Amino acid sequence: MSARVKEELKTEVEKLKQSGKTTGLAVVLVGDDPASKVYVRNKEKACEELGIYSEMHRLPETTTEEELLALVDRLNSDENIDGILVQLPLPEHLDDSVIINNIRPDKDVDAFHPVNVGKIMIGDYDFLPCTPAGIMELIHESGVSVDGKECVVIGRSNIVGKPMSMLLLHENGTVTTCHSHTQNLSGVTSRADILVAAVGIAKFVKADMVKPGAVVIDVGMDRDENGKLCGDVDFDEVEPVAGAITPVPGGVGPMTIAMLMRNTVTASKKHKK
Ligand code: NAP
Repeated sequence: MSARVKEELKTEVEKLKQSGKTTGLAVVLVGDDPASKVYVRNKEKACEELGIYSEMHRLPETTTEEELLALVDRLNSDENIDGILVQLPLPEHLDDSVIINNIRPDKDVDAFHPVNVGKIMIGDYDFLPCTPAGIMELIHESGVSVDGKECVVIGRSNIVGKPMSMLLLHENGTVTTCHSHTQNLSGVTSRADILVAAVGIAKFVKADMVKPGAVVIDVGMDRDENGKLCGDVDFDEVEPVAGAITPVPGGVGPMTIAMLMRNTVTASKKHKK
């Protein structure tokens, strides 16, 4: 699915180019977090595949707020740049929200700026945050209807859990959002027709937490006891119970990148106008 989305976007990028508009994405990475480095490299590769101009700004861990804001400011006014992505989490001495709030909302392709978050809440948006958008695409493309379904999201982060719940609600799901204070979690999750796990704990969702036939979406990017990449769902246990399930790796991750590319193309089209 992600390959198909990217193929469609490649054509759109080419059309924009022919009409004189290049599409550009700037990615900013501060520090040496190994996972962030991999994510940034994957974003760079996707831009190359699609013919999107990309600028990678790799800054040292010691970068000050002033220096980072100066870069964001420069990218905000750079006509070659349609999208700006600051890879999170930032090192501890930098405040994520101060930086995000300074990205121009029409270049905020992660959709983390309060203006874009508010628009998503209302249901009138230009960009959707990439991970929940990718999940909705997976659900649609699989022919699953959300309308009237019991949807349970485990996790309430601003990046995944909350916007995910909102998108399912927009499509008329009956949505429950769970978190670390939820009582009787497995009682709640086993009601779900659509279960989204965004917890950040390896193999957290077990077979007895899943309703037979449920659609199970695994957002987790965790490490198992051997250091191998795995999800929040115990795939081997849950796969026989679920009606459909996304694997890790190769599920939500590639769709997230495809949606980032889509947001960048959307921004480029808006800037062309
Ligand atoms: P996060 O900010 O750490 O949020 C985790 C959420 O899980 C919190 O809301 C937390 O509840 C909840 N939680 C923790 N322990 C729980 C428990 N025992 N029972 C029920 N809920 C519990 O994480 P995130 O940024 O949303 O990311 C979640 C996972 O998705 C991570 O593995 C991350 O690497 C992955 N991820 C993947 C992609 C992708 O593209 N595939 C993108 C983003 C994130 P509280 O709010 O009460 O603390």
